[in-house]
Amino acid sequence: MEAILQMKDIVKQFAGCLALDHVNFSMQKGETVAIIGPSGSGKSTLLRCINCLERITSGSITLNGDTFVETKAGMKAVYLPDKSLKNICAETGMIFQHFNLFPHMTCLENVCYAPVKVKKQKKEEAQARGRQLLDMVGLSQKGEAYPAQLSGGQKQRVAIARGLAMNPEIMLFDEPTSALDPEITGEVLSVMRKLSKEHTTMVIVTHEMGFAKEVADRVIFMDAGKIVEEGTAEDIFQNPKSERLKDFLSSVL
Ligand code: ADP
Ligand code: MG
Repeated sequence: MEAILQMKDIVKQFAGCLALDHVNFSMQKGETVAIIGPSGSGKSTLLRCINCLERITSGSITLNGDTFVETKAGMKAVYLPDKSLKNICAETGMIFQHFNLFPHMTCLENVCYAPVKVKKQKKEEAQARGRQLLDMVGLSQKGEAYPAQLSGGQKQRVAIARGLAMNPEIMLFDEPTSALDPEITGEVLSVMRKLSKEHTTMVIVTHEMGFAKEVADRVIFMDAGKIVEEGTAEDIFQNPKSERLKDFLSSVL
């Protein structure tokens, strides 16, 4: 199988805080990986390092064959020049807890903005694809609506359509349902379930243990900046090995 992402020996040091402590993580094309773990364990930082919202302190990251950041012995990590970095970032789509839609743009404009600006797609093409994607997330009627006119679940579905519009190699979801009322998390989870079934390569940081169990090909448990355990949903939820994972599961299940 083809590794689409390889992160080797990743360290991310913030002032006074070691957020990632020698993490090794790789993904195969088409895989759905769920990341679970207590607050502050480094889950968001790991995603943010993949799409370059944060720069790593040391280690190496290879995405789709391009090693865009690497450390030589004892040195800090060196990134590719910015232009190539932009290409790398365009290969990942990030979905945030708080949607982060552009408030002054309609839903369709939100979805089409990056393909036109970054990928230089023709406006008509981007709009046609944008409408398909809005349809796919169940919002074909909302193209002309503004984010303020939508519910939280609808906003998050627009954000997913916007992420997919760039045809990224990997979709990164950082607690996509945490800001939603329980009764509407289902509509967002069902879009993600559909993507997972279609073998979209995706990483999902989530507190929805039932959902992780159902969709994840692999589950990763992080604590204190480290990957403590990883395995199938059955390994992690039915047969946890470490005390830390057992404690975590008993606190959330
Ligand atoms: P999680 O997503 O698992 O809750 P994070 O990745 O957000 O955890 O955070 C990991 C650790 O890094 C935490 O201790 C957090 O306080 C720290 N951290 C995250 N972002 C920053 C930042 N920009 N500056 C300083 N510390 C940070
Ligand atoms: Mg987080």
